[in-house]
Amino acid sequence: MSAEIIDGKKVAGLVRDRVREDVSDWKAKGNRPPFLQVVLVGDDPASRVYTGAKTKACEDVGIETKTEILQDTISAKELKALIREYNTDDSIDGILVQLPLPSHLSSHDVIETIDHRKDVDGFHPMNVGRLSLDQPCFKSCTPAGVMELFKHYSIGVKAKHAVVIGASNIVGSPMATMLSRENSSGKATTTICHKYTKDLTLHTINADILIVAAGQPHLVKAEMVKEGAVIVDVGINRVADETSEKGYKLVGDVDFESVKKKASWITPVPGGVGPMTVAMLMKNTLLAAKKSIYPVD
Ligand code: NAD
Repeated sequence: MSAEIIDGKKVAGLVRDRVREDVSDWKAKGNRPPFLQVVLVGDDPASRVYTGAKTKACEDVGIETKTEILQDTISAKELKALIREYNTDDSIDGILVQLPLPSHLSSHDVIETIDHRKDVDGFHPMNVGRLSLDQPCFKSCTPAGVMELFKHYSIGVKAKHAVVIGASNIVGSPMATMLSRENSSGKATTTICHKYTKDLTLHTINADILIVAAGQPHLVKAEMVKEGAVIVDVGINRVADETSEKGYKLVGDVDFESVKKKASWITPVPGGVGPMTVAMLMKNTLLAAKKSIYPVD
């Protein structure tokens, strides 16, 4: 058996095509283009790559964007004052603070300062809470991208046993919420594993759908996976590679070559979940501009 490949690059392209058309319609009705304000604190190379990819995606779909690059010495007070300015600026639809932040800044505190109606990352407690309540909200882009992949490939989730490895606020936890809610698209029986899980294989071997977001290269091996399972690898890890010009290559959390022989569907890294995250951010920014989630009363 060799798994079918879930082509995130292709599906992300389709999502972006739809957003581009919708942005064009929105502008044709006399509205200004959606605007995404990105905030980058410090000079983390990976964060620069991520914000660069988001800027390029915005340009591609007709969303306007600006990245404010701030010194890593900025105080919490100064950063929060800037965010409050963005909150009240009607020309800004979405606000994204690139994580991680330098250690002297609390990401919880900073994210909570963002107006939840502009929180296109879906990290604000209001959006996280509304997700748990099955209420309209901005959904965290990476897990929303995974759900979009299931939809595109007609991979049924309802009543399946889904296992999520990783319980972070931005990937694992919202992923498990989306999978498990009874009234939304999920409806799966869902298990969450994390670094305190004693025997990972005990859970993964029973998974019809296995989502791995641990940040541990090749954590999941073939012997941990049920025959015919759907495998979604969210992990993005840099590992040394002398044959590459950069000196490293990107690998996921799943041992792709061995696991694909047992799985029915699998996402590659790169080209799986990664492109979906950016595409869903574009979708959220358009929803913010249209006030679709939080209508103005
Ligand atoms: P994180 O470090 O915040 O959380 C990792 C989670 O995995 C924690 O809950 C931890 O308990 C768990 N974990 C770690 N080691 C484990 C182990 N051996 N067994 C079981 N659980 C374990 O990371 P994150 O921000 O959630 O990101 C996870 C991975 O996903 C990273 O590789 C990150 O780069 C990647 N990521 C990818 C995208 C994308 O767009 N594809 C987006 C965000 C994050």
